[in-house]
Amino acid sequence: MTTEPARIRPPELGEPYLLTPGPLTTSYEVKRAMLRDWGSWDDEFRAMTRSMRSGLLDLIGPGADEYDCVPIQGSGSYCVEAMLGSFVPKDGKVLVLANGAYGLRAAQTMACLGREYHLLDKGDYLPPRGTEVTEILQADPAITHVLIIHCETSSGILNPVEELADAAHAAGRKVLIDSMSAFGAVPLEAQRIKYTAMVSSANKCIEGVPGFGFVIARKDELVAAKGNSHSLSLDVHAQWATMEKTGQWRFTPPTHVVAAFLTALAAHAAEGGVAGRGARYMKNRDVMVAGMRDLGFETLLADRWLSPIIVTFFCPADPAFDFSAFYDAMKARGFIIYPGKLTVVDSFRIGCIGQMDEHVMRQVVEAARDTLAEMGVGSAAPPAAALEERKKLAA
Ligand SMILES: *Cc1c(COP(=O)(O)O)cnc(C)c1O
Repeated sequence: MTTEPARIRPPELGEPYLLTPGPLTTSYEVKRAMLRDWGSWDDEFRAMTRSMRSGLLDLIGPGADEYDCVPIQGSGSYCVEAMLGSFVPKDGKVLVLANGAYGLRAAQTMACLGREYHLLDKGDYLPPRGTEVTEILQADPAITHVLIIHCETSSGILNPVEELADAAHAAGRKVLIDSMSAFGAVPLEAQRIKYTAMVSSANKCIEGVPGFGFVIARKDELVAAKGNSHSLSLDVHAQWATMEKTGQWRFTPPTHVVAAFLTALAAHAAEGGVAGRGARYMKNRDVMVAGMRDLGFETLLADRWLSPIIVTFFCPADPAFDFSAFYDAMKARGFIIYPGKLTVVDSFRIGCIGQMDEHVMRQVVEAARDTLAEMGVGSAAPPAAALEERKKLAA
C-alpha cells in the first residue's frame, strides 16, 4: 500500500486551503474531471452511476452484497432527511442520540416530518453511551430505530458507534447512522455494525465536490421502505427502484459532480481505501494537534475522543486574542479555519480532511505561531472556565 503525498496545489490558483469539514480542498484532477458535459440518460453516464454505487459499496467490506447504495441529489442534510423519511415508518419512533448540532438537526428533521422521536441531548460534546441507550429503550417500547451520529462534526468527537449500535441491537431495534463526516476514513464495516442504513456525502472524506449524498442500506430494508416517505424527491425507495430498473437518477443528476466523484473514488482506492485515507488524516491530526499544543493551545477533547476529521481548540484567554482577527490572519497565510460551536466557552476548529498532508499541517501550525506573535498574544492557554468544562468528560 503506497500512500501518495497530498499534492500542493499550483500556487497560481491562489486559493487558500480549506481546513473545514466539507466543502474541502480537492485535487486538481477532481476539479478537472468536471470539464465535460454528460447526458444524464446516456449509457456512459449510467455506467458512471453504476460504477460509483459499486465503488461505494466496496468500502463497507465483506457482507456488502446485502446492501445497496442509493445516491440522492442535494447536500448531506437532504440525505439524512431522505433516510429518516424512508426507513422510519410513519408510525415508527426514533431515538436520536445528540451531542452537537447535527444530532439536533436530525431531531428537528423528525419534528418536520411529524414523526415520533425521543431526543437524548448530551449537550455540546459529551458522548452518548450504550448503557443510556439500553435504559431508554427498555423504558420506551415504542422506539423502533436509533439514530447515531458517527463523527459529530460540531465538536469533532468520534462517537462510540459500535457500542451504541450493539446496545440498540441487543434491544431488538434498528440502527440508522449519520456517517457524513467519517465515512471513507473511519471504518464502518457491515459485518461489525449491522445497520439498516447510513448516509454520507460527496464532499467529505472521499474528497469530491458538493452536490449529492448517498444512502447505503440493506436491500431488504430498501424493499420494505416502499410507501414510507413523506416526500417525492427524497424517497430513497423510489430513487433505488428507478435506478435498478433504468440505471438513471429520477430527476436531473449533478453530472459533473458525479464525474468528479469517480476521480475522487479512484484516488481514494489508490491511497489504500479507508485504511490509507484514515492513516493520512490521523497523521494530519497528530502533527497539527502536537504543534498547536506546543503553542499552548488546548483541545476540547481528550485524545481518546479525538476524531481524525476535525479538532476543536479553546480560544486563548489572553485579551490580545480575537477570533475574527485570528481567522483573517490565518486566511491571509493561506488557511481557512472554522469557528467553534460550543455554547459555553469560545472555541475554533481545524479540519484534518481534504487534499492536505502532514507538511501542510506543519505550515498551519507555523501560520498560527506567526499570527499569535503578530497579534501580541503571549500565551495560547485557555481560560480556567474552559478547563472546568473539559473536566466533565473525564467522568
Ligand atoms: C456535513 C454534515 C452533515 C450534512 O451537512 P450539509 O451541510 O447538509 O452537507 C450532516 N451530518 C454531519 C455529521 C455532517 O458532518
